[in-house]
Amino acid sequence: MTRLAVDPVLCTAHGLCAELLPEAVALDEWRHPLLVGADLPGDLVRRARRAAAACPTRALRLTRDPV
Ligand code: SF4
Repeated sequence: MTRLAVDPVLCTAHGLCAELLPEAVALDEWRHPLLVGADLPGDLVRRARRAAAACPTRALRLTRDPV
């Protein structure tokens, strides 16, 4: 399973991740990301990688469970 994770220390609440991946990321009232759902469906993984690469502070990461 592939999951998104946010490092709350690195995140500076740009909100870019929610714009790039609204199916998996919502924003709270302070524009901090709230991850929707635990596992990313396969068709979102590529876009999630792009959103993680676009995060200005590298706070957004993809993790994979060991097989
Ligand atoms: S793009 Fe990065 S810094 Fe901006 S809200 Fe998302 S995780 Fe935080």
